[in-house]
Amino acid sequence: MRSTTIEILFPRNLSEALSIFSDAKENLKIIAGGTDVVTGIQQESKRFIDTEVLVDINRIPEIKGIEVRKKKISVGAAETFSDILRNNLIQNELPLLWKACSSIGSVQIRNRATIAGNFVNNAPCADTVPVLLVYNATVEIESLSSKREISLQEFLQGPYKTQLNVNEIVTRINIPIPSKTFVGDFYKLGRRRAVSISRITLAVLMDMRGGIIDEIRIASGAVTPIGARLTGLEKFAEGKEVNDRFFKTLASKMGEEIIKITGLRWSSEYKLPVVQQMFYQLLKSIEQRSL
Ligand SMILES: Cc1cc2nc3c(=O)[nH]c(=O)nc-3n(C[C@H](O)[C@H](O)[C@H](O)COP(=O)(O)OP(=O)(O)OC[C@H]3O[C@@H](n4cnc5c(N)ncnc54)[C@H](O)[C@@H]3O)c2cc1C
Repeated sequence: MRSTTIEILFPRNLSEALSIFSDAKENLKIIAGGTDVVTGIQQESKRFIDTEVLVDINRIPEIKGIEVRKKKISVGAAETFSDILRNNLIQNELPLLWKACSSIGSVQIRNRATIAGNFVNNAPCADTVPVLLVYNATVEIESLSSKREISLQEFLQGPYKTQLNVNEIVTRINIPIPSKTFVGDFYKLGRRRAVSISRITLAVLMDMRGGIIDEIRIASGAVTPIGARLTGLEKFAEGKEVNDRFFKTLASKMGEEIIKITGLRWSSEYKLPVVQQMFYQLLKSIEQRSL
């Protein structure tokens, strides 16, 4: 049982927060919605056991808001899933993100939990990660002395590991607005219909022209160690004719691609046919909506 008390700080703007982080050590953690941090502290998880200072970032206006900036939809790191679900830009331009957010936890969780909390925690089952990857999202990161923007793919390093340093904060996530020729879908499989940890997630975004796959972006979550783009599969599919036989070939190749990443596991025997079937159904539904 931990005996130390935790100090909580409430910076009122970004520069105040960055000053606090400038000489931060591993015992300082950012808290946004707290739906991972608080459970992590309570369960004495290795990542949170040494926490002595929590910095609550909910009062920082610079990391809130959803708006168009330079042809991208810029989402403040501290936007909650409920904020995102209420936003028309997200509903109209980024329907896969909307669908993934609507599948997270329960209303109570969505009212607290934030988008950055989801991908900074980087659990294998983080539901927004596969959709943000197919949308080619980038992450804005700031410290007192620097500001950088990198792709989400680069930011995510391994289960519960990212590129973020202790003196940095994620301020925004930027998502290029996809052309209307892209049609996509997101699928989440859990053990029950709500408040369910994902066992398998897939996101697919496809641009078909004249019966040919011009561009396809495919990302998995939960079934791979972290959310990841399946670039081998994407390359194989591009330029191919859209038909049922090809979708079946692509779906069976999806299995090979996942084994390449994860190796053969005890669960592969039942998970792979499910992934292949989910992927095939996603492709069919996208094809039908593209007609
Ligand atoms: C009952 C329950 C159900 C859940 N269901 C789902 C689900 O269906 N799908 C799913 O994906 N997740 C689910 N989760 C997990 C969790 O709600 C999400 O991962 C959520 O997005 C975390 O956001 P948060 O704001 O609560 O993060 P916090 O707990 O506040 O923080 C999480 C991590 O991110 C860091 N962090 C947060 N914001 C920033 C920032 N701006 N810059 C730098 N670091 C930051 C924190 O330091 C911490 O390491 C569930 C959790 C619970 C308790």
